[in-house]
Amino acid sequence: MDNHQFLRRPGDDRAARWSASLGREALFALDVVREATRLTMAMKDETAEGTITKTDASPVTITDFAVQALVAARLARDFPDDALVAEEDATALRQASARGLRTRVASMVRRALPDANTEQVLDWIDRRGGTGPRFWVLDPIDGTKGLLRGGQYVVALALVVKGVVRVGIVGCPRLSVAGGLAAPLNAGAAGGGGTALAVLDRGAWWFPSSGDRVPLSVSARADPAHARVLCSYEVQHGDEDRASRTLRALGGEEPPIRMDSQAKHVVLAAGEADLLWRFPPDMHFHEAIWDCAAGSLLIEEAGGRVTDLAGRALDFTAGRRLLRNHGLLASNGTLHEAGLAAVRQAG
Ligand code: AMP
Ligand code: MG
Repeated sequence: MDNHQFLRRPGDDRAARWSASLGREALFALDVVREATRLTMAMKDETAEGTITKTDASPVTITDFAVQALVAARLARDFPDDALVAEEDATALRQASARGLRTRVASMVRRALPDANTEQVLDWIDRRGGTGPRFWVLDPIDGTKGLLRGGQYVVALALVVKGVVRVGIVGCPRLSVAGGLAAPLNAGAAGGGGTALAVLDRGAWWFPSSGDRVPLSVSARADPAHARVLCSYEVQHGDEDRASRTLRALGGEEPPIRMDSQAKHVVLAAGEADLLWRFPPDMHFHEAIWDCAAGSLLIEEAGGRVTDLAGRALDFTAGRRLLRNHGLLASNGTLHEAGLAAVRQAG
């Protein structure tokens, strides 16, 4: 494992003690997500040609597969007994016709793990484990469409123990946070990038790619009319009519901020927005746990609140999807009841 120099200046014992106090899991997750995020940036020119379409019509790239392999390999090394629940699997890569694709994924993984062979890489991607009492949950690339479009994307990793998210990490190569405030950059890779970390009952912080960490803290905004609302960039990821009705019921006057991935959760945790919602595209749709776990702890540890659209706590004991929840409402806390009331009123 790295020696976490990014957490401290040389000779700074207090900072060293602080980082050690976060616990082994948080330090592991910070290291691996930063390593994975760097890999996605190194691969940005090759990613687009290495894209295939999944059965649900969403895209997956060689970068998604390579990040999943890398994180699974690091977990096998440092936490061999822990289960991993991750978005992708290697079925498509194992097809005879996908030889070129799997070769490219393996060579990408070798940038971080020089001795890895293709078979190993496929096995890491398929490293499984159910959602038992203790598991990690990974979205190797959350916001693949954003990655391809030049918008936001993140690497999201969380540790869930007995249904409670204990550690959440979101690596954000295209998000910039200046002076503790997130400046959402949805277009272009101009943002300095950084990593957001939350540890249960300890807090949430932003680690810029260079510079000191800053604590994340939600806004104090209490006026629904001026609420800044985050939602998916992709209109087909939600029910747009219901979102518009809810904004009207809230009395919101600001146009929603459209952004890909759990970069939204980081922006809310940093106090640069006040509400975040996901209205499922249909009544049968349930959120994937890898789209919510890390980001929800970030928001809560920054002082905010996260529930589903009915005000229920997110239940991470239901499997790969939040089968006992419907949609998502996250807020700075102050505006949560107003948000839930608007959802109810909009119907
Ligand atoms: P966002 O950019 O916030 O919409 O989040 C991206 C995530 O939305 C992806 O990682 C998918 O898991 C999820 N997603 C993909 N298709 C849909 C869909 N039709 N409805 C809702 N969510 C979706
Ligand atoms: Mg995702």
